[in-house]
Amino acid sequence: MISVSNLHKYFGKLHVLKGVDLEVKAREVVVMIGASGSGKSTLLRCLNFLEMKDEGTITFDGREIDPTTTPLNTVRENVGMVFQHFNLFPHMTVLENVIEAPVHVKRTPKAQAIEQAKRLLDKVGLADKGDVYPEKLSGGQKQRVAIARALAMEPSVMLFDEPTSALDPELVGEVLEVMKGLAADGMTMVVVTHEMGFAREVADRVVFLDDGTIAEQGDPETFFSNPQHPKAKQFLSRVL
Ligand code: ADP
Ligand code: MG
Repeated sequence: MISVSNLHKYFGKLHVLKGVDLEVKAREVVVMIGASGSGKSTLLRCLNFLEMKDEGTITFDGREIDPTTTPLNTVRENVGMVFQHFNLFPHMTVLENVIEAPVHVKRTPKAQAIEQAKRLLDKVGLADKGDVYPEKLSGGQKQRVAIARALAMEPSVMLFDEPTSALDPELVGEVLEVMKGLAADGMTMVVVTHEMGFAREVADRVVFLDDGTIAEQGDPETFFSNPQHPKAKQFLSRVL
């Protein structure tokens, strides 16, 4: 579904992504781990064209996406993204947050968008919160709204950038449960997380990023029990 080849990204003179090759198949859950500053967020943002690559190719469903010729909005509609900080619209209710993009970007009829939003809020366990404003919600509830909001665009892939890192520990589980449900439904997902339990349980593949390159990848069982790359060994010894 996604194919990244020889991806390079610079911020000024800082060479952040140094030739990343990554394939993500339909219905696959890829968990990306690595030290702070290794380039995980930048890679996700390149996949969503929030950052523009400097070199390399990115293809979706076999079509190369060239930012200079492809309308990026249509690409972004297809790629849902959930961030560490939920970025809900504070002046809109939960339901209004979820229908905003379908109604204003996709031109979905409002009644239909509301139907769908209710279904999605039910799916993330917030069926009773549609009329509530975000400030009344816990962090875990806000993040679940953010997931419902991303799903409302009916993306074919979901990117998660440390979705539980800003949450109090007791709220992490409810968000991971929603993500597990999505994975079980067959959603294609790329997840940056420090939750190694989630990686072990849900990932089809773990990708370890080190200093802007993929140093090692493999199925979670093999990777966690027998990492090969020295940096991966060191990383795991610190987080496990
Ligand atoms: P990670 O998510 O793995 O912690 P990032 O992708 O956020 O890593 O960052 C990788 C490197 O790129 C870091 O050195 C960071 O400081 C730098 N960086 C990230 N975003 C920017 C930016 N917008 N401008 C300049 N430097 C950036
Ligand atoms: Mg990051």
